[in-house]
Amino acid sequence: MENKKRIYMDYAATTYTKPEVLSEMLPYFTEEFGNPSSIYSLSRGTKRAIDLARERVSKAINADASEVFFTGGGSEADNWALKGVAFANKKRGNHIITTKIEHHAILHTCEFLKKNGFEITYLPVDKEGRISIEDLKNAITDKTILVSVMFANNEIGTIQPIKEIGEICREKKIYFHTDAVQAVGHEAIDVKEMNIDLLSMAGHKFYGPKGVGALYIRKGVRLDNLVHGGGQERGRRAGTENIAGIVGIGKAIELANSDLESERIRLTKLRDKLIEGLLKVPYSRLNGPLNKDRLAGNVNICFRFIEGESILLLLDSNGICASSGSACTSGSLDPSHVLLAIGLPHEIAHGSLRLTLGASTTEEDVDYVLEVVPKVVKRLRDMSPLWDDFLKKGDN
Ligand SMILES: *Cc1c(COP(=O)(O)O)cnc(C)c1O
Repeated sequence: MENKKRIYMDYAATTYTKPEVLSEMLPYFTEEFGNPSSIYSLSRGTKRAIDLARERVSKAINADASEVFFTGGGSEADNWALKGVAFANKKRGNHIITTKIEHHAILHTCEFLKKNGFEITYLPVDKEGRISIEDLKNAITDKTILVSVMFANNEIGTIQPIKEIGEICREKKIYFHTDAVQAVGHEAIDVKEMNIDLLSMAGHKFYGPKGVGALYIRKGVRLDNLVHGGGQERGRRAGTENIAGIVGIGKAIELANSDLESERIRLTKLRDKLIEGLLKVPYSRLNGPLNKDRLAGNVNICFRFIEGESILLLLDSNGICASSGSACTSGSLDPSHVLLAIGLPHEIAHGSLRLTLGASTTEEDVDYVLEVVPKVVKRLRDMSPLWDDFLKKGDN
């Protein structure tokens, strides 16, 4: 192999676990293995570790420690919030409002709830991926029990007007859940100021371990349990605690929040340099907002006349790990529901590339990607019959 370079630009898919996080976790695999539910002193340390993690998580979002419940990741937190609220409140109503651009952990849960008698409204989004507050207001009926709108989108990075949504829901006495898996540890979050009733997070999206997440449940919110069994998590989520994971998510969120603003500013600069450079490629287009209300680390660009998948393969052979939200209509790929929802015409949406930046991303990385991507796009277009057609005939 001529190229040993590896540039990771897929932080929205997952992050590595930071060494400081791992080192706090390690003792809980070995010496500190006591079951927190046991009575002997060996278990006291593990109980204390969980308490500390809960404290750290709650502090990061301005909640009370008693309002934080650990889960097996972001998907479980999302499932719990939606199913838990739906089943516990079905006497009040059976209507749930969400958006067309949610993660599948939300969308597929909504499909399941629909099969169980709930009505779901999927709010549309504008061409930058934002819902409209007017649409939300108009969608609310006297049967509405829950609104679930993601804090920030995982494909195109759009940040929703969470505070305004929270205000409306609180006023109408409807529970407001947000899938904040992409936002926690990256954006400032205050569940009180934003009137959030339920919030999902996942450790591995902010340099903690995989397989551990948390659901914030505001005191007083009525929801059923999802995982039944023992009395762990104060009787609300059964199963012997993933202590090392819980310790990890606690340390990771504390670390992330300690330099949240400076990292946001650093990544925004790199992101904007990358966007500017990539948009110099002819027939390219940015998906999501240009700068305002966009996650600091998110870049999502379409290159006309080529396939997202083929860009990824060539980037990989150049040591670049990236991802695609491809709205390919023919062939084996599922269209990206997010790109379709922002109104991308199919013929333009063929070649979408998502590059997400994070803690180890440097300016050199950005420069290298800016050197490689245009070459890759050119090479693929040179082989593309669509491009050939376009050169001969133009757009029609
Ligand atoms: C990653 C992600 C999830 C799922 O989290 P897991 O920890 O992988 O279960 C849910 N929602 C969003 C927005 C995500 O980015």
